[in-house]
Amino acid sequence: TLTMTFLALLMFSGFVTGCTGNSSDSLPPRLLLVSFDGFRADYLQNYEFPHLQNFIKEGVLVEHVKNVFITKTFPNHYSIVTGLYEESHGIVANSMYDSVTKKYFSDSNDKDPFWWNEAVPIWVTNQLQENRSSAAAMWPGTDVRIHNTTPSYFMNYSPSVTFKERLNNITAWLSTSNPPVTFATLYWEEPDASGHKYGPDDKENMPRVLKEVDDHIGVLVQKLKMSGLWESLNVIITSDHGMSQCSESRLINLDLCIDRSDYSLIDLTPVAAILPKINITEVYDKLKNCSPHMNVYLKEDIPNRFNYQHNDRIQPIVLVADEGWTIVRNKSLSKLGDHGYDNSLPAMHPFLAAHGPAFHRGYKQSTMDIVDIYPMMCHILGLKPQPNNGTLGHTKCLLVDQWCIHLPEAIGIVIGALLVLTTLTCLVILMQNRLSAPRPFSRLQLQDDDDDPLIE
Ligand SMILES: [Zn+2]
Repeated sequence: TLTMTFLALLMFSGFVTGCTGNSSDSLPPRLLLVSFDGFRADYLQNYEFPHLQNFIKEGVLVEHVKNVFITKTFPNHYSIVTGLYEESHGIVANSMYDSVTKKYFSDSNDKDPFWWNEAVPIWVTNQLQENRSSAAAMWPGTDVRIHNTTPSYFMNYSPSVTFKERLNNITAWLSTSNPPVTFATLYWEEPDASGHKYGPDDKENMPRVLKEVDDHIGVLVQKLKMSGLWESLNVIITSDHGMSQCSESRLINLDLCIDRSDYSLIDLTPVAAILPKINITEVYDKLKNCSPHMNVYLKEDIPNRFNYQHNDRIQPIVLVADEGWTIVRNKSLSKLGDHGYDNSLPAMHPFLAAHGPAFHRGYKQSTMDIVDIYPMMCHILGLKPQPNNGTLGHTKCLLVDQWCIHLPEAIGIVIGALLVLTTLTCLVILMQNRLSAPRPFSRLQLQDDDDDPLIE
């Protein structure tokens, strides 16, 4: 079978190189990027998603996407569309403060381009190409004039707009627009909203919520098929972060450690952003032993692996709660699930699935980084990417026009090749021995029954 794999791979590589020239047809490639907020990677293993599984069966799946710290909604959605870590794209939290301009940012006060202009999202880059437009049925930042540009078609954010309404807009824009919409986004608030409310461990409501999410995916695929978009459109379904269970018994009360007048609180939990009003060291000393379930960092000591340091919007002191712990100020627990924790925690990771002419069919990969989505999308759309932290190579195995070798197959190829060579060498040696052997022996051998296998 190894030889078969070897031969199949040889044929396949020929097939791939033979096909790469065919993609430059009349219509440019098109891509729909979908996010179901707070879709934890292991929901896919622990619940049934018949529609999503059908989508994956004909496409690709990345089981864990390592997202960026802090693992919150706005920062990660902006990393998906820019390929940048938070310190580089500037959306470092859902709640921010800029001490130079004295501006505040929150998820309900996000329309000032000032916050977004440190990066160029892909829908802007896409529209700078000749004869292309972008569309957004919501996605953080798509209703903001970033670098003086919104998508040609977009909706102002409103959580009360139904999924069907968003989907109808997207399919209409993809079907009829001129210049054609080649990049589009679709955003949905679940399962995040219910994950916060009930907690991800909830067994009563979460199964229903996740079934509704899967039904939405079913409706999405059906609608794309009915609109004649399904075969030619590339679709990515992914998310921004996962969810962890919180508890009344896992609270960290800052009021027990420090006076409120000593600092301004910019963001609270599970990553608190602290702007001291008194001496920084004094505030740090009061907080550093506040709880064994919370790491306290001076900005300059934030671990490199977070890529969360070099931006003015990151406050002088950052507190990071352990998984499942909630930072409060003399208040009871308000939600049973939360995210924002360390991005190395599996429960914080989302997944990625994709389908369409750019993607393989039935291929599975265990992991990638969330910043790798951007260079992959640029590659599919034929856009020159902005400088970014992602690596196209990490997604090569997902793409039909890329040549990639997986380690197990590479080993298979080597072993297969060695087996073929060894067999051939042995045969050649045997043949030579036979030909060069003295006649009497040769005759004897031919009469010998034991020799039969050798003749074969
Ligand atoms: Zn989110």
